[in-house]
Amino acid sequence: MTSLRQNFIQGRWITSRGAPFVNTNPADSRQTLGHFPESTPEDLEKAVTAAQEAFESWRLTPVPRRADILMRAGLLLERHKERLALIMTREMGKVLKETRGDIQEAIDMAYYVAGEGRRLDGQTLPSELKNKAAMTFRMPIGVCGLITPWNFPMAIPSWKILPAVICGNTVILKPAEDTPQSALEFVKILHEAGMPPGVVNLVFGGAETGQRMILHQGIRLMSFTGSCDVGRIVAEQCGRQLKRCSLEMGGKNAQIILRDADVDLALEGALWGAFGTSGQRCTATSRIYVDRKIYASFVKTFVAQARKIKIGPGWKNGIEMGPVINQSQLNRIHAYVESGISEGARLECGGSRARGRDVDPGFFYLPTVFTDVRPEMKIIREEIFGPVTCIIPVKGFDDALAQVNDTQYGLSTSIYTRDVNLAMRAIRDLESGITYVNGPTIGAEVHLPFGGIKNTGNGHREAGRTALDIFSEWKSVYIDFSGRLQKAQIDV
Ligand code: NAD
Repeated sequence: MTSLRQNFIQGRWITSRGAPFVNTNPADSRQTLGHFPESTPEDLEKAVTAAQEAFESWRLTPVPRRADILMRAGLLLERHKERLALIMTREMGKVLKETRGDIQEAIDMAYYVAGEGRRLDGQTLPSELKNKAAMTFRMPIGVCGLITPWNFPMAIPSWKILPAVICGNTVILKPAEDTPQSALEFVKILHEAGMPPGVVNLVFGGAETGQRMILHQGIRLMSFTGSCDVGRIVAEQCGRQLKRCSLEMGGKNAQIILRDADVDLALEGALWGAFGTSGQRCTATSRIYVDRKIYASFVKTFVAQARKIKIGPGWKNGIEMGPVINQSQLNRIHAYVESGISEGARLECGGSRARGRDVDPGFFYLPTVFTDVRPEMKIIREEIFGPVTCIIPVKGFDDALAQVNDTQYGLSTSIYTRDVNLAMRAIRDLESGITYVNGPTIGAEVHLPFGGIKNTGNGHREAGRTALDIFSEWKSVYIDFSGRLQKAQIDV
């Protein structure tokens, strides 16, 4: 058990006077995994000071040298992958193969961003005047505040920390209260890889600590991933301070299956998209639109397969779906299910907490499928973030497109079809930041931009080269080597 009353600041463990909070195993709520501090204002002050001091030398460190550290971090993560996966499965609940994937994402990000460190390029451009050069450079911003959710406890911190530091910023990470240990392990590895003290600081805590970060004048940028409700608060508060802010929020992701699709493939993808990570992915498939010609048989097979999913502690062999994160998430999911039933949707399977010797002490919920869902129902409009999905019949491509786009969110969409013309129209017309063709709504890779439109985000993209745009400012530079005053727009 980790009994830690400390934050990681300036490369050292610093004791906090904040009240401890408990880290619990969601597969067995009787098991306490550790205690972590709800950081105090003094703790945050220390972290900001450390990050500000470190910024002065870090911003001047050659970028390839920064990249070397990330490369070593990737190697260390690989070496410790199995140990870290087990820690994460106990802390967050998802099955081992998925926690391995979470760590692999951090490894991929470390190598990818280390590579970007060798070409953190600007542009060289012509000048409109003679004997004059023009170019752009990426400049770091300063101290960045990073707030992360619990569903990807290492991958999401890696999406933020690594691009931020390669650009020359220093950071303060506040991970979600449900997954402090995974964040701690990640930050420890970064330091083992040679991260200088103060470049990456870690403070534990919940909303209060997050609020203090947003309002702190010494933090120049906030990068937030979490719910839409909290993201709105972050945006408002940053807006008032004119503080740079990037937001990655919820989704209500949809898969379309047309009548010409490979239905077995589409079914396999839909099951993975809906119930992988117990539906607790921002890209989880919570709406499945199926051509009415194949609808009845699809529903029958999908429900039969959903019933067969093996539920249990994620570290046990053969388990396909772990628990949800905590009691309040379990209650929230169940409240959505009850609202679906009371609004008249048909519950095909699931709809309750799972029961059995292996699952009784944990927060397990049965894979749940609804049909007869109308567009105004809450279960089709709001993000549930649990193993609940809806299957809806459609008349064809146009009907599917209209229904998929009828949502406040815009993260991930998918279409299964063999018709290249319809696939291309889907790519063009589906309103989402990510579209998959003949693949489920989940499965992003680190070297492509990741994020959504509408209420899912505020115009930024994590991952890919676009992540660098969040964490750097452009500087335009003009070098006049004519030896005389040349006036732009006047000396034409
Ligand atoms: P959440 O919004 O409750 O919490 C996210 C983080 O914000 C946590 O660290 C939390 O402590 C902190 N926080 C909560 N209230 C705060 C406040 N008032 N001020 C500052 N910080 C505050 O979300 P969650 O339950 O941890 O995660 C689930 C949500 O995250 C879902 O909506 C999911 O779709 C979203 N998510 C989005 C992406 C993406 O990339 N788009 C990825 C993963 C998860």
